[in-house]
Amino acid sequence: MKIDLNITPIENELENPKWPILIAGPCSAESEEQMVDTALKLKNSKRISYFRAGIWKPRTRPGMFEGVGEVGLQWIQTVKKETGLLTACEIATPEHAELALKYGIDMLWVGARTSVNPFAVQDIADSIKGSDVAVLVKNPVNPDLQLWIGALERINGAGITRLAAIHRGFSSYEKIPFRNDPMWKIAIALKTACPDLPIICDPSHIAGVREFVPLVAQKALNLDMNGLMVEVHNNPAIAKSDAQQQLLPEDYAQMIYSLQLREPSISMGIEITELEEYRQEIDLIDEMIIQKLARRMELSRRIGQYKRDHSLMVLQIDRWEKILQNRIAMGSAMSINPKFLKKFLEMLHEESINLQTESSE
Ligand code: PEP
Ligand code: MN
Repeated sequence: MKIDLNITPIENELENPKWPILIAGPCSAESEEQMVDTALKLKNSKRISYFRAGIWKPRTRPGMFEGVGEVGLQWIQTVKKETGLLTACEIATPEHAELALKYGIDMLWVGARTSVNPFAVQDIADSIKGSDVAVLVKNPVNPDLQLWIGALERINGAGITRLAAIHRGFSSYEKIPFRNDPMWKIAIALKTACPDLPIICDPSHIAGVREFVPLVAQKALNLDMNGLMVEVHNNPAIAKSDAQQQLLPEDYAQMIYSLQLREPSISMGIEITELEEYRQEIDLIDEMIIQKLARRMELSRRIGQYKRDHSLMVLQIDRWEKILQNRIAMGSAMSINPKFLKKFLEMLHEESINLQTESSE
């Protein structure tokens, strides 16, 4: 499937135009001091194309911090005056769009809770018709590529050509390693359908905790994404929204400097070695293995309860023998040493039996 969008480039303003677009700033605008201090530090890193801040916050539950509103746009103007940075904020209604344009915000984005709704997106598209603002469309919270494409088409249909998509992952009811499930294949499918459309990854909302932000950012660049949107706060501990995932400006700079681009000749900072690259991938894999193990153990506990309720024996030797045979064959086909795999499975089985026994008591 190919989609036809009329795209023109979004300016980058970095030292090297081949670097990915880098959008950084707090989840929410909280005070003028927080905004200016964060922006000055980001500006000093020399690795920022746009300063972002949420002015109106679409919160999943009422009663949480819902943003400062219009006064935040004045603070963005102060940031622009004092740092010269280009600026970006989220809009969710035509009124937001109108105000953001009135205050000269350079880039607008449609959030994940808005891009799910074609009526809301169309209203926004109608309200920015005729303007030359750059617009980014986040993926909808649910994994629906057509809905994401539809939102991009509506904005593009209003004559907005400086357009890009933001991949921020998808809500998941299952317990997963990250806050949002990246489902990278959806972003890749979008890229395939429209190769001219830049896709910017938001590793902060995918990761949900600051420790994982660099891993996700590197993965996005490995997949040839065209930019990053990262939440950065001068004091994340007291942030009014998304406190756990925001980075300090110095940690942001360090992350960007050590990210590896696909063409090492255009690295954004210090070169990282091939060894470092392997290690980063191993870290990601280990984390996934641990998450999967946790899920497997949770299932063992549930099986224990089921067996108790149905008066079944904990150890069912036939099933175990079948598991062993089948997994070892699977592993051998993937060049995993059968002796190692047998030892590993036996340890896993032993723990599973312990858990089942505990939960069947
Ligand atoms: C945000 O960028 O702060 C935000 C609310 O993101 P999302 O729409 O991806 O949840
Ligand atoms: Mn946020």
